[in-house]
Amino acid sequence: MSGAAAGDERAAQLRSALEGLHARVERACAAAGRPPSGVRVVVTTKTWPASDVLALARLGVRDVGEAREQEARAKREEVLAAGWPDAAAEAVGGVQVRADDGLRWHFLGRLQRNKAAAVAGWAALVHSCDSVRLADALARGARRAERVLPVLAQVDLDGDGDPGRGGVPAPDLPALADHVAATPGLRLDGVMAVAPQGLPPDRAFARLAGLAAAVRADHPGAVVLSAGMTGDLEEAVAAGATHLRVGRAVLGERPPLG
Ligand SMILES: *Cc1c(COP(=O)(O)O)cnc(C)c1O
Repeated sequence: MSGAAAGDERAAQLRSALEGLHARVERACAAAGRPPSGVRVVVTTKTWPASDVLALARLGVRDVGEAREQEARAKREEVLAAGWPDAAAEAVGGVQVRADDGLRWHFLGRLQRNKAAAVAGWAALVHSCDSVRLADALARGARRAERVLPVLAQVDLDGDGDPGRGGVPAPDLPALADHVAATPGLRLDGVMAVAPQGLPPDRAFARLAGLAAAVRADHPGAVVLSAGMTGDLEEAVAAGATHLRVGRAVLGERPPLG
């Protein structure tokens, strides 16, 4: 098959997967009595090439999610070089769709502090801030880039001690949120979590919704609730998620992370 034919086939595959996903999100919103406009899908493109990001952009996707700094940086540069710009700096609030064709590149993976400054230079929203020290490193990078970086505080929902998933223990979430909100260079936009293994997602996300409401009581601008992936987006929508992070349902099964 020629490269162009393979590209057309991939684009057709992505189009039909996106249509399926949008229908699924609409059903979830209807079941939850929520308007679909209140839910933003971040298509998680980690491990997939820049050509997929460009194909998604042509299909109307404006939010893409990446989980590793080096991969994300290279991919974004390739996409920029191919002529697809970043979104203009975002107005406060997080969920309203803007009249802008640019891409918002979200960062949602574990982040080492020595990579934080780089991410702070380009991310539209960092979902995975899970310590005061990481917040400070992000803030330094944001100030160096002369921008204000929107950040979510990531919480670990079950505290089973598994460090792989990331997230601050729930009892430490309010202090992390206060710290982000008070740090020049950062803006606290809300809360993020990954549903843990071994806890039904509806219970995990109900817990998350309670934690997020407590943060919002102290920080009214922290309206973003990032929750829900391919396997559990219905439960996340039911619990009030404003941002879903969906990879496999759109792009297919990932090759294992190297
Ligand atoms: C990869 C990833 C996702 C997407 O997961 P899928 O199961 O592919 O939908 C969501 N959130 C985070 C933090 C991820 O790393």
